[in-house]
Amino acid sequence: MKSAWSERDAQAIVDRYAHEGVGPDLALRIYSTRLLGCEPSLVLHGGGNTSIKALTTDLLGEVTEVVCVKASGGDMAAIDETRMPALRLDRLRKLRALDSVPDEDMALVLRDALIDPMAPSPSVETLLHAFLPHKFVDHTHANAVLSLTDQEDSDLFCADVYGSRMGIVPYIMPGFGLAVRAAGIYEIKPKVEGLILQKHGIVTFGASARESYERMIEMVTLAEERLAKNRKAVFVPAPIPGPVAPLADVAPILRGVVSVKDEHIEGAWRRPILDFRTGPAILNFVNGAELARYAQAGVVTPDHVIRIKIWPLILSVPEAGRPVEFKRNTQRAATTFVEYYKSYFARHNARAGGANKMVDPQPRVVLVPGLGLFGLGHTSRAAMIAADLATCAVETITDAEAVGRFVSISEAEMFDMEYWPQEQAKLADASEQPLAGQIAVVTGAAGAIGVATAKAFKEAGAEVALLDLDETATEAKARTISPAALAVRCDVTSAASVRAAFNEVVAAFGGVDIVVSNAGAAWQGRIGEVDEEVLRKSFELNFYGHQRVAQAAVKIMLAQGTGGCLLFNVSKQAVNPGANFGPYGLPKAATLLLVRQYALEYGAEGIRANAVNADRVRSGLLTDDFIKERSKARGVSEKDYMSGNLLGREVTPEDVAQAFVAQALALKTTADVMTVDGGNIAAALR
Ligand SMILES: [Zn+2]
Repeated sequence: MKSAWSERDAQAIVDRYAHEGVGPDLALRIYSTRLLGCEPSLVLHGGGNTSIKALTTDLLGEVTEVVCVKASGGDMAAIDETRMPALRLDRLRKLRALDSVPDEDMALVLRDALIDPMAPSPSVETLLHAFLPHKFVDHTHANAVLSLTDQEDSDLFCADVYGSRMGIVPYIMPGFGLAVRAAGIYEIKPKVEGLILQKHGIVTFGASARESYERMIEMVTLAEERLAKNRKAVFVPAPIPGPVAPLADVAPILRGVVSVKDEHIEGAWRRPILDFRTGPAILNFVNGAELARYAQAGVVTPDHVIRIKIWPLILSVPEAGRPVEFKRNTQRAATTFVEYYKSYFARHNARAGGANKMVDPQPRVVLVPGLGLFGLGHTSRAAMIAADLATCAVETITDAEAVGRFVSISEAEMFDMEYWPQEQAKLADASEQPLAGQIAVVTGAAGAIGVATAKAFKEAGAEVALLDLDETATEAKARTISPAALAVRCDVTSAASVRAAFNEVVAAFGGVDIVVSNAGAAWQGRIGEVDEEVLRKSFELNFYGHQRVAQAAVKIMLAQGTGGCLLFNVSKQAVNPGANFGPYGLPKAATLLLVRQYALEYGAEGIRANAVNADRVRSGLLTDDFIKERSKARGVSEKDYMSGNLLGREVTPEDVAQAFVAQALALKTTADVMTVDGGNIAAALR
């Protein structure tokens, strides 16, 4: 690993912070923390932490010695001075005289020592930093160090690689005990440049930000160099019987199996989002004959346990063309996983006093021989974090096995970490949104109604995929919604394009729960004289387009077995034809019946089908020029033309979007048509 320190960048950040009254030491602390945070083989997703000791003036104007530590769960790559809360060192140091600090008191003790009482909670490893005397302390969970210390013979590896340059701290759970132990080991050997925390990570320290950072890089490099020597070839592969089923077939089956019925709301499910990863290193790992041993031996570093649990779920090889067998095997494996998790919880909770509440027992990582791995979470972000940590585990365990044999901390130690209140607090931020865990696909998504609908579903908590013919416009629109919104090119007049687009959605999120079939275009012509070609073109898009999209969605929904929701943008033309709008209204009328057909035939599978009849909405079909022309022809203002309905209110794309969301949430409603037209008696459904 190379040092990324640049004197020029360091000076630039010192100069920039000087303008804000922040001194050079803290500026450089921020700089080197970001350097460490940008390297995924050192820290991932809130792991690791750094500190600086300094003098500050407290709220009463007294100069006080403090330690500024990274906030709990904060991302080192994006750290700034507001995420480095300052704590009074004298108060923290007094704690060392105690025999122990109860878990329930620790957060309060730390909060009590904060200079700014409103500051974010400091890292759970704050005392480790406070009890060491150095001005700068850096702590990471470097993969290379983990590969050498997640071993039965970790002492030998450490002695071989570091000699007397590093203090070796046997595994102890993070918190007060580790801080006392680490400081004690340092004090016996005050010349060491850092500490190896066995089966956990590495600490380096120094008098300057650069010294502490470059010691980290050097010590990790020594570990990497050891891992490159005397390697044995891993892993011996298990035979794969025949061709493997594609991801598009596997993911919906898996997602359905690990979804859980809501006990309180009939028809509701708790579904995960799936983040799929594969590649030579992952395949080498999941295809190994001894996968069950090394993959289920435990976490590579303790703080991963709250995100990915202590073991992954391991599936059988999904053989192509045998989905029924794969589903049965997956159900069996998932049931065993959950039962084992429950017994693990019961066993260790009894030992720990019985006060814990079991978290969701479903797996967070799934390994599929022949295919790759999945990270699971209730949002795409949580799934991404799980997949990143699983990929890190693949790398760390592979290297550990190449030079020795991977060993983790004990099951009891993992339980204590998983149910440590300070760790669970990192997950406690998520207030559940109504469509959390659901995957919504919107067609015609680059248009006004499509974008508004995708936004509304995202705001309700769903993951969204925007499908449209115009790829560039769709990508631009997806970026306005969120970084996780997916943009996919899709021509709904082509069955192959629809299939490919849905495969892409499944690859990104694991399945499909809601489809808003919205793509459409208006053709005009007097029905007795219109060219048949025009009528056929309109049917191709405004009827068959909806049918292709619904059919592709239903296939995935049936594989998941967790119901689903089909939503169609029909039109008031379907029930209240306008002159010369036959080519548009006729296929829309057929689509209205299509909604009922789906509602009838798939209700038993929990798949609902509903529609929105909107009218007079500014969009690609009703452009500003067209509105100008029509209002002029009728001798009314544009505003009066647009709000020419019973309520006298203009209908917006957002109104249509909210109607779709309402239908998605109405679990007892199917075959419904909701009018969003401000009131038009002639278009009212009987
Ligand atoms: Zn740590």
